[in-house]
Amino acid sequence: MKQIQDIDIKGKKVLCRFDFNVPLDDDLHITDDRRIKAALPTINYALDEDARVIIISHLGRPGGKKVAGLSLAPVAKRLSRLLGKDVALAKDCVGDDVEKLIDGMEPRCVIMLENLRFHKEEAENDDEFARKLAGYADVYVDDAFGNAHRTHASNVGITKFAKVSCAGFLMKRELNYFSSTLEDPLRPFVAIIGGSKVSGKLEALANLIRKVDKMIIGGGMAFTFLKAMGYEVGTSLVEDDLLHTARRGIKIAKENGVKLYFPVDCVIAEKADSKAVTKIVPIQEIDPNWMGLDIGPATIALFREALSDAKTIMWNGPMGVFEIDAFSMGTFSLVHAIAQSHALTIVGGGDTDVAVHRAGESEYITYISTGGGASLELLEGKKLPAVEALNKAAKKMK
Ligand code: AMP
Repeated sequence: MKQIQDIDIKGKKVLCRFDFNVPLDDDLHITDDRRIKAALPTINYALDEDARVIIISHLGRPGGKKVAGLSLAPVAKRLSRLLGKDVALAKDCVGDDVEKLIDGMEPRCVIMLENLRFHKEEAENDDEFARKLAGYADVYVDDAFGNAHRTHASNVGITKFAKVSCAGFLMKRELNYFSSTLEDPLRPFVAIIGGSKVSGKLEALANLIRKVDKMIIGGGMAFTFLKAMGYEVGTSLVEDDLLHTARRGIKIAKENGVKLYFPVDCVIAEKADSKAVTKIVPIQEIDPNWMGLDIGPATIALFREALSDAKTIMWNGPMGVFEIDAFSMGTFSLVHAIAQSHALTIVGGGDTDVAVHRAGESEYITYISTGGGASLELLEGKKLPAVEALNKAAKKMK
């Protein structure tokens, strides 16, 4: 694919697709602006080239209609502060007002168009909508990695109509970390997979099991594996329909010489509640009416040991219900272990990203993805539609 530095954007109108889907509180204040900060290298580069920067993004799921609480106004305001310059917000993302605003743009000017998902045509990958967006600029830049697993008008359809399409710095960085690591990792390569259910990460497990040297399995999903191995796991989260799949996974790991690590003890309670009484027990001693909600201290020590010689670590999914303090120790201990390792460390987005930041270790992780869903699809070995579209557009440009 083409990258923004490959293209002459001097003084040109550049339409940049970002993923500014940031969390907002009830008063519409941004509670985490990392996705906006991650866009700054591309925006600043375009401004240094005297380009006129037109920004497009989605926010939340308005379902194809205008929802006041999902306006990009707070994002435009925050971006304006981060850039130290005005960022005007258009009332819509298509229409006469937008055209007028764009026609009046001076070099080094930044405007933002309103939430793309206020139009149902965005999620439908509608050609006419994509054509209109593409028509606003000389160059289209896709830097919305977090949305790259979606086939939408603003990231896939648009590449059919844009004169020139290329990737921004964030998109390239994300792909580099995931693709090059998955293709040719420094070994030992260890994957840590956690989170709630096996079903949500089945394809990632299946893909990684053929690539890694060691796989650490924690979180709720570990209990399906433990039950498949014959342990009584009380009322822990188990997907009974996947017991057979779990057994097969263990067999494939053996055949591939992959070392699997499961919890040997856990923190249990009768329910996932901050006031619940908790106990730490070996896996063999989970009470029938209790559930495993975090890995225990022996497991933390085991997992640390397994990580000690790693040269590459990829992590997706917490080790327990880390949102509740009583069940957060396992996840946070693992964050610290990874941060202290000498390996190349890559963390998927979503909950794992939240855990790393809450543990205060984000500076010590090599790379934290800005896209939970998109990075998971890369772990699954899938091709991202937006990336495919950029590759196709680059071939057309040759
Ligand atoms: P996922 O979206 O699949 O990565 O799952 C993340 C969620 O898994 C978090 O909200 C955790 O609270 C939850 N989780 C982690 N460990 C457990 C567990 N042992 N039992 C139930 N839920 C868990």
